[in-house]
Amino acid sequence: MRKYIFVTGGVCSSLGKGIAASSLGSLLESRGLSVCMIKIDPYLNVDAGTMSPYQHGEVFVTDDGAETDLDLGNYARFTGSSLSAANSITTGQVYQEVIRKERKGDYLGKCVQVVPHITDEIKRRIYSLGEKEGVDVTIVEIGGTVGDIESIPFLEGVRQIIHERSRRNALSVHVSLIPTVTGGELKTKPTQHSVKTLREIGIQPDVLLCRISSEMDDGMKRKIANFTNIDYECVLSAHDVNTTIYEIPVVYRAQGLDRVVCERLGLECENDHFRAWRTVADTWKSSIEEVEVAMVGKYIELADSYKSIDESLVHGAIANGVRIKIRKVDSESLNTAGQAEKALDGVDGILIPGGFGERGIPGMIEAARVAREKKIPYLGICLGMQIQVIEWARNVLGVPEANSSEFTPDGPANVIALLEEQVDVIQYGGTMRLGLSQSIAIEGTLIHAAYGTTSVKERHRHRYEVNNSFRERLQESGLIFSAFTPDGQLVESTEWPTHPWSVGVQFHPEFTSSPLKAGPLFRDFLAAAVERMKSAV
Ligand code: GLN
Repeated sequence: MRKYIFVTGGVCSSLGKGIAASSLGSLLESRGLSVCMIKIDPYLNVDAGTMSPYQHGEVFVTDDGAETDLDLGNYARFTGSSLSAANSITTGQVYQEVIRKERKGDYLGKCVQVVPHITDEIKRRIYSLGEKEGVDVTIVEIGGTVGDIESIPFLEGVRQIIHERSRRNALSVHVSLIPTVTGGELKTKPTQHSVKTLREIGIQPDVLLCRISSEMDDGMKRKIANFTNIDYECVLSAHDVNTTIYEIPVVYRAQGLDRVVCERLGLECENDHFRAWRTVADTWKSSIEEVEVAMVGKYIELADSYKSIDESLVHGAIANGVRIKIRKVDSESLNTAGQAEKALDGVDGILIPGGFGERGIPGMIEAARVAREKKIPYLGICLGMQIQVIEWARNVLGVPEANSSEFTPDGPANVIALLEEQVDVIQYGGTMRLGLSQSIAIEGTLIHAAYGTTSVKERHRHRYEVNNSFRERLQESGLIFSAFTPDGQLVESTEWPTHPWSVGVQFHPEFTSSPLKAGPLFRDFLAAAVERMKSAV
């Protein structure tokens, strides 16, 4: 019998349900079980592709090119579960499918309703993914907070699955909050009420993860267990860790989360590879030196807009045994000469992330110039690679009007441009190059050294490319093109000559990096930054 775990949240949002679900996935995997992770977002958008990073944080791209919620990024960093469009379920998708079937006449004239039609579609999606992947455990995280109007059909679907499969095969894990009120007193009442709300819906949680500022004492655990009908050993302290989120699996493991889950679901597992996670947490704790890297982008104010890059930098730091400080620089503040030098003073590395639209571009070009001239290690991701090319064309090749046709559609020197065949498509939303594809790295380049192979497979999310009509001139002036699409038609990576370490990539290496295996470019970028830091001392 396939097993299911449903992770819900109570009291308020932003409790770290995604990290809790991912940590549980990592614990089960380290016991040799295979997991499939699903995120349910109760909003009406069909996917996250059209959402502003300001509203919703980063868009996470899967191998098959789905633009999904950033929580899938957590799943990818904590678990080896394969992720595709099907791992992200939204209300919009569910309704779209039910309405499509209704229009086709599939319901044979019946009245189409939330129960059973919407709930059946929800269950079908959850059941079919676990079955298709043939995994031991499907972990489903339900976004939002219990009690929200939007999530009711999903919770009804969960209730039905637990009933259909029995609690021996389907488990409810609830993440709740123990707030501190004035005077420092901890309060369990919101958690009691949140469990009560869940029970009114017909779901009795089996495991409770209590978010709390410092470790919960035994007395409180017993009190909560008593009020919520949850076994004492299943009430866990999910206290704040002031180290790294990668210590959270260690915290849960110490309290036996994987043990109680396996016991309750009747999962027998002999393996135990948990040591790798402990090593990650220990490396972080024992690191003393700190490198500082600047990230120059335009969505800087919102903490989650470059989530996967932030995390990948941490992975790179762990791989080099150092700590990392990320200096977030708003590219719009770097518009006049001298500002970039000042804002970037003292950093050991400069990273320009992906982005869309014209705003903030001049500041990014300035930042790239500073990195090139001052020989500061540079990593350019997607737009960051395009900026590297534009900056080179302007300041080294000597074409001051060099630009991207994204910003100057009729410009005279668009070194970054749409492919001919895309020009007509753009008005209909354009064709974005999305998802996993292969690049061929040229031997002897930094990208080849990083990946240790000529075959590099990473995910894309962009429309514009290096303009082939400028390729020769750019190359003749010294710019290195270090990777191409397998047909040699498109540039995938650029490097500066006579520079300690600089790589711009058209793809997004941040979507495949994890703490157990840092993305090779982040590892090497950080190694170059560490070298610069040490030589400056
Ligand atoms: N706006 C650029 C393009 O569409 C870069 C996209 C990105 O950085 N993800 O090509």
